[in-house]
Amino acid sequence: MPLDLLVTGGRVATLAGERGFGWVEAVGMKDGRVAFAGSAVELESRADPFTRRIELDPDEVAIPGLTDAHLHLAEGGLATDHVDLSASPSIEDGLGRIAEAHARLAPDAWLEGHGWNADRWGHWPTADDLDRVAPGRPAGLWAHDHHALWVSSAALDRASIDKERADPGGGIIRRDEAGEPTGVLHESAARLVIDLIPPPDQARYETLIARLAHDLVRLGVVAVHDPGALSLQEGLGRGIAAYRALDERGELPLRVHASIREEQLDTAVAMELRSGDPLGPPGGRARFGWLKLFADGTLASRTAALLETIEPEEGRPLPPGTERGIWLTPPERVAELALRAAAAGIATQIHAIGDRSCRASLDALEPTAGRAAAMPRLEHVQLLHPDDRARFAAAGIAASIQPIHVRADAAPARLLWGERAETRGYPMRSLIDAGAMVAFGTDAPVEPIDPWPGLSMAVTRVDGSWPPGSPPFGPDERLTIEQALRAACLAPAVIAGEDDRGRLTPGQRADLLVISTEALTNPVRPGGALAAARPRVVVIDGETVFEA
Ligand SMILES: [Zn+2]
Repeated sequence: MPLDLLVTGGRVATLAGERGFGWVEAVGMKDGRVAFAGSAVELESRADPFTRRIELDPDEVAIPGLTDAHLHLAEGGLATDHVDLSASPSIEDGLGRIAEAHARLAPDAWLEGHGWNADRWGHWPTADDLDRVAPGRPAGLWAHDHHALWVSSAALDRASIDKERADPGGGIIRRDEAGEPTGVLHESAARLVIDLIPPPDQARYETLIARLAHDLVRLGVVAVHDPGALSLQEGLGRGIAAYRALDERGELPLRVHASIREEQLDTAVAMELRSGDPLGPPGGRARFGWLKLFADGTLASRTAALLETIEPEEGRPLPPGTERGIWLTPPERVAELALRAAAAGIATQIHAIGDRSCRASLDALEPTAGRAAAMPRLEHVQLLHPDDRARFAAAGIAASIQPIHVRADAAPARLLWGERAETRGYPMRSLIDAGAMVAFGTDAPVEPIDPWPGLSMAVTRVDGSWPPGSPPFGPDERLTIEQALRAACLAPAVIAGEDDRGRLTPGQRADLLVISTEALTNPVRPGGALAAARPRVVVIDGETVFEA
């Protein structure tokens, strides 16, 4: 049988075997799968006049498509409709953008946004700040890590948050010396306001998701794992409904594994949904992912659960009892939920940032490994005690890490975690060396959706936006380009239990990209060709879905 599509004329990284690029001259596709990988001469003998061709230029290579193992696709779609403060260098600039949005909104509408950063702005913003530029407006804006919400006085009033209101379990209401709320709600406290914001209608929601998915495909992302709603808010039920509807209409341009939150576990078990099951039509692109749980908070919010206390900061005292972070979900409850899910064939992914949280999460997941089609996994793993490195491979637990977080986190990590930040922070190399499956993601919309700067960061541990001459963050943890590529293309498919994706070897799904050779050429410069890579061609299931 002649082949449908040939990729010839250059080099193809198949990622065959356990390491290396697995270079071949050419690959051939048939019925959406790779049918041949090898020499160009042999491939030509299997073409006929109807076979389509992608000719690689001399300075181009083909690689497998990328899978973002941690991207909030549904939430990210919504965020494109909101005020984006991620590029605001100062609170003044941020307030300017908020004032513009306020002027555009209907009088009673909520003002929503995301992306502010108290480390970058030098202080926590307040409700008074918002009231000045958007008087009377109910407003809720997520911090860049989505673990703190900045709210206006109108929002505080509607949620009945005042001096008398006690902090909810797993949450902190920031207050002044007199005990009055100042307008920042950490962790579960954010939910007091978030739950009051009316959701957009389903049609708009689906449109926004599809639009973002198309943007991802153009960047070379052929699949995503959506861990569900960011932080502690409802809505994943609607996310799954949207993926199912889009898939049924054939409007999902990439593959999605969608996870559920604790609140949806009983429903999923009752429906006998297991990790890897189709959500839409059989053979469709939407699949059921993991149970997503949150163990601790975040580095930037000073709420990551740590084995040792963090360094005290001038003028920024920690709320009493949080010197070693906080638990968003107590470890016993995490363990119990993960076991219940595993018994139903649902693997669990746990948000775990601090070393104490990683340890407790490994404890919780070890008894669940091997009981679902997907691997149990820790999300973020930003600080890990060396004693825990070997536990991932030993138990079959994956590490889902977002290298681009190093860009914003290197400075606060050095400040708060001291010397251990560089020797134990973002332990990608030491985990791979210990045999662990390390999968990359961006955590968009916490960070931009572009996966390439993260690959560059994993290789250099320096960001192009840092001052010239900045030393690499934890230089011993730098990866080779080939290791980074495996974490971006292959590992996410493996941990989802997809043994037919992530490589360009015969039998694998024909998802591939054509990029410039320069992107994969050593040495990688921060902000250079790898960070700026853009595919010229994107193929999904053997179909060319994008061509620049
Ligand atoms: Zn996330």
